[in-house]
Amino acid sequence: MKSIKIFAPATVANLSCGFDILGCCLDTVGDEMVITLTSEPGVKITRIDGANLPMETHKNVAGVAVQALLAAYGNDVGVEIEIYKKIKAGSGIGSSAASSAGAVWAVNHLLDQPFTVHELIKFAMEGEKLASGNAHADNVAPALSGGFTLVRSYNPLDVIKLHTPKDLVMTVIHPQIEVKTSDSRSVIRHNVKLRQAIQQWGNVGGLVAGLFTEDYALIGRSLEDVIIEPMRSILIPEFKAVKDAAIAKGALGCGISGSGPSIFALNKGMETANAVAEAICKVYDKTGLDFDIHVSKINDHGIKIINE
Ligand code: ADP
Repeated sequence: MKSIKIFAPATVANLSCGFDILGCCLDTVGDEMVITLTSEPGVKITRIDGANLPMETHKNVAGVAVQALLAAYGNDVGVEIEIYKKIKAGSGIGSSAASSAGAVWAVNHLLDQPFTVHELIKFAMEGEKLASGNAHADNVAPALSGGFTLVRSYNPLDVIKLHTPKDLVMTVIHPQIEVKTSDSRSVIRHNVKLRQAIQQWGNVGGLVAGLFTEDYALIGRSLEDVIIEPMRSILIPEFKAVKDAAIAKGALGCGISGSGPSIFALNKGMETANAVAEAICKVYDKTGLDFDIHVSKINDHGIKIINE
């Protein structure tokens, strides 16, 4: 029986201007998983620690993603999955994506890499479809590739890994209220004004250019969302106060992480990231709500082996 223990990272999707297409990978926040190949065909979730999530294979994103991989592999192998959850479900930092991406990455590794990262993204998207009803790739792509990723197209799937400027550090606050991806999708209006679209795709282009040229000021100017944030931020207590505090402390930009309720601030340097963390904690202390705070460099590697 071959077995591997991995770190499955949290991810920040959307990055303000890139709804459903941009994401990046964190380094200090993530789940652990143990994946074992067995001779008895079928996929089993044998253990979940740290969260109350379904053990049934077809209801757990890790199980569904691995089933998609095995269907393409075509060989009768058995897989057992243990999940040690650190990322809370519904946090907006890719809890479901960590499980889907981690599981398919580990199985592919144990099978001696029959699939490319691009194919693994497709399998992991089946897990995202189960979690939110929508097979989005903006969390699973950075979890699998590391760094920043851009989904240029969903049909056909075309994912591009972008460049990671080395001084970027993410601060994330996770208020302990659950906002389900499906709920936060329901507040979105589906029509966009041309004027807003022009501003948004200008920002996406600016952010991509800023990442490649390591132009931190351009990255900051481009972290603007004129379409989704105005609608979704109403679901997040003190969103504006957090954003104002982060920017006042020197954050390059601040916005909703994925579908929320987590809020991210992207910073140049660890010192600024820590100062931003302190300032936004102060804002949240006043609300009486529980919250977690994370400060993380960008993880350019993605999933990591803990031991095998
Ligand atoms: P996030 O954006 O943090 O991933 P979602 O709301 O998209 O949160 O996904 C969480 C949903 O997926 C929950 O309904 C949860 O029950 C379901 N789910 C199923 N399997 C898992 C898993 N292994 N890890 C996390 N969530 C899972």
